[in-house]
Amino acid sequence: MSDLARLTIQEARSLLSRGEISSVELTQAVLDRILDLDNAVKAYLTLAPDLALEQAAEADRNRANGGASPLLGIPLAIKDIISLEGLPATCGSRILEDYVPPYSATVVEKLRAAGAVILGKTNTDEFAMGSSTENSAYFTTRNPWDLDRVPGGSSGGSAAAVAAGMALGALGSDTGGSVRQPAALCGVVGIKPTYGRVSRWGLVAFASSLDQIGPLARTVSDAALLLGTIAGYDPRDSTSVDVPVAGYAAALTGDVRGLRIGVPQEYFIAGIQPEVESAVRAAVETLAGLGAEVVDVSLPHTEYALPAYYLIAPAEASANLARFDGMRYGLSLPADDLWETYRRTRGQGFGPEVKRRIMLGTYALSAGYYDAYYLKASQVRTLIRRDFDQALEHCDVLLAPTAPTTAFKVGEIAGDPLQMYLQDIFTLALSLAGLPGLSLPCGFDGEGLPIGLQVMGRAFDEATVLRVAHAYEQATEWHRRAPALDGSEGTRGG
Ligand code: GLN
Repeated sequence: MSDLARLTIQEARSLLSRGEISSVELTQAVLDRILDLDNAVKAYLTLAPDLALEQAAEADRNRANGGASPLLGIPLAIKDIISLEGLPATCGSRILEDYVPPYSATVVEKLRAAGAVILGKTNTDEFAMGSSTENSAYFTTRNPWDLDRVPGGSSGGSAAAVAAGMALGALGSDTGGSVRQPAALCGVVGIKPTYGRVSRWGLVAFASSLDQIGPLARTVSDAALLLGTIAGYDPRDSTSVDVPVAGYAAALTGDVRGLRIGVPQEYFIAGIQPEVESAVRAAVETLAGLGAEVVDVSLPHTEYALPAYYLIAPAEASANLARFDGMRYGLSLPADDLWETYRRTRGQGFGPEVKRRIMLGTYALSAGYYDAYYLKASQVRTLIRRDFDQALEHCDVLLAPTAPTTAFKVGEIAGDPLQMYLQDIFTLALSLAGLPGLSLPCGFDGEGLPIGLQVMGRAFDEATVLRVAHAYEQATEWHRRAPALDGSEGTRGG
């Protein structure tokens, strides 16, 4: 029965609907696997087995009464920066160690309304700041393909859980790459939707002009199903946009004939791991072989994405994190006067990367510097957005690597913030432009570590991004490989 945990959502759906398995059996199989493996992988910060089994039993009863909602009885994991009523939301931070949100995020409500079972909350870099989960205040999640390596970040717990068969799918959040990069490093599919596509009500804010919630799953079709469930307008999030949600399943035609695929030259630069470049170039060839038309394009302002992002995101973070003052949420270390209370609470509650961002951001926003930094970065952002708009005028999607390297070793670059920031070199520009992007497996390096292909698209056109990714996935076998964590041979059937 342990194979149940390796089912895709679509496979589990059909077994459930044919009555061949129950959700309680499926959920128990996944929980058993978590008990077996998570001591080593450390994907979960909070596990909720009783709640999960209760929800699974409810799903089974619901099905017996004719219920057939799309995720009925499917066990999923939620990044710990997304609120779920009654379970801790630490955001990977000591400052929220004991914080339990009194309400659930819209995305969680939508998953529950579609029948999903929630297994628990997954590890993240503190307040989603990082690319490896090494900035979590609790522990570092390990990459299921090699336990000495990082899973990427900040949604590394979600990506590792999905890759290891410890959840059939998961939610993460992506501000500058935090769904796509861990998806790439863990060999799963992750999609960052268009800014405004998915409600952020109940997502703890990092950088408000960039944050988006997105799904991680083992196949494009599973990711499309999750995205279709969580997408849509929400009056409780003033940045959510009222654009109709396409039926994503209908977009998965397997056909890319006549589509124009742009390959931006700025994404194949010195420093990229040669195996990553060759795998991505081979993927472009595969899609050309399927009938897509490939064109070379240029996004000339790409090199400014990293400096612009590392002004805009810390500036917004410094404002958002001001609310953690020892008065209202989480940790409070009272002292004789108010300033000392702030100093003690924030001094002990926040880790070094979060403090670095708060200082950078506060400086960039301070009187006399605003125009030179935040405003300038915002102007650069407009140029980056225009690059994409121009390229996507005559291309349907753009293809690039998701990350410059495969998974690096735990501790290898943790002491060098700039090296860590460079992990996002290929994901930041798209975030600044507010456009949708997906990462899916496109090969393995010589060490057997997965490589991610990034598919980038037009605003609110997740359907075409999913279509191209799905066609590529159908033409290749990469998604069938699974990490050999339990002595299994490492290939997934089905
Ligand atoms: N790694 C990037 C950062 O640290 C992006 C993080 C994210 O997308 N949440 O800011």
